[in-house]
Amino acid sequence: MRIFVPAETRRGENRVALVPDVISKLTRAGLNVAIESGAGVKSGASDHEYAKAGAEITAASDAEKTLSSADLVLSVQPLSPERFSRLQSGAITISFLSPVTGKEQIDAAAKAGVTAFSLELVPRISRAQSMDALTSQALCAGYRAALVAAELSPRFFPLLMTAAGTVTPANVLVLGAGVAGLQAIATARRLGAVVSAYDVRPSSADEVKSMGATFIDLQLEALEGAGGYAREMTEERAARQRELLKPHIAKSHVLITTAAVPGRPAPRLVTADMYSEMAEGSVIVDLAAESGGNVEGSKAGEIVTTGNGIKIWGGKDVPSQLPFHASSLYSRNVVNLLLLMVKDGVATPDFSDEIIAASALTHGGAIREGMVK
Ligand code: NAD
Repeated sequence: MRIFVPAETRRGENRVALVPDVISKLTRAGLNVAIESGAGVKSGASDHEYAKAGAEITAASDAEKTLSSADLVLSVQPLSPERFSRLQSGAITISFLSPVTGKEQIDAAAKAGVTAFSLELVPRISRAQSMDALTSQALCAGYRAALVAAELSPRFFPLLMTAAGTVTPANVLVLGAGVAGLQAIATARRLGAVVSAYDVRPSSADEVKSMGATFIDLQLEALEGAGGYAREMTEERAARQRELLKPHIAKSHVLITTAAVPGRPAPRLVTADMYSEMAEGSVIVDLAAESGGNVEGSKAGEIVTTGNGIKIWGGKDVPSQLPFHASSLYSRNVVNLLLLMVKDGVATPDFSDEIIAASALTHGGAIREGMVK
């Protein structure tokens, strides 16, 4: 079977679905790999390295032809509906593909008889951890969030004892202590900041503490839903949370927000009133800016400076800002999911496997039942 990795076409997407390091795992499994020329350049992998690893390099002018004859297509962003419609019936794709925002692509995949896997839907069970691209990419985003905050801040993060006097450490507050939040906490701690964090899931308290940060307990109703994710909250609960968080925000030099609720726009956690009392020069990093924003006034891909001198950095394509390792981890996730269905050089999805059943959106010319609401 032949795998094709097209170059990513979306602006701001610097990752690649396969890095040279993982090619041998696929060739050993009996698969042939072709990659579009230049596909890895932004993540630091040249055509030469791919060729050395055993991949065939396809000229950009031949990409559409190779795509339409491929058995397996691996990408980071989903293919466009037009590209899905050109795939051969029975082809398999693996990429991010949201059942909420990717309806056109999903329809096109179903119509073309493609089996389209979505990495967003890989279940968060221990057997699937090595395929969990949401986690690997959130890890990159959380790390980057702390570094961006440190760079934008006019203050040191660590405590410093100098001949000229003592520098007090920065206070960093992280809202949302899932994968990205915990990585932001760990990174800010490594830089020496004093970190506190809040999450609606009380089970995150121990993880926050194990990173050397303080968990803020607002004594509010817990909102732990299915699969360890947060549930949406009532407006009354949200208003109380905002009121209780305000004094914590006021005394922070850096605020990093990472809150998300699966399948919904990001919850608005922080209003302009809540950050109005932060000191001039304070920094807010909103990792959820692309999906609606946790912070009032944040704009994805921009740094907004408020009237009182607070910088709000709105995240856009954040894992892509660390393209080498984001691609390297993503590639491993993709390969592990793919190898789950490969036997004797042939990929055959077994729908009795819960990972396959949960993550395949389309198969056999239709959208699989219950996959798109
Ligand atoms: P996510 O990206 O969906 O959300 C980020 C965080 O925001 C979550 O911790 C969530 O509780 C929090 N949040 C949502 N609304 C909030 C609000 N109004 N105020 C404050 N915080 C709010 O979550 P994620 O990082 O993908 O992880 C969610 C859960 O899944 C965690 O429990 C994580 O440990 C778990 N997980 C399990 C596995 C596994 O078992 N394989 C893998 C990854 C993550």
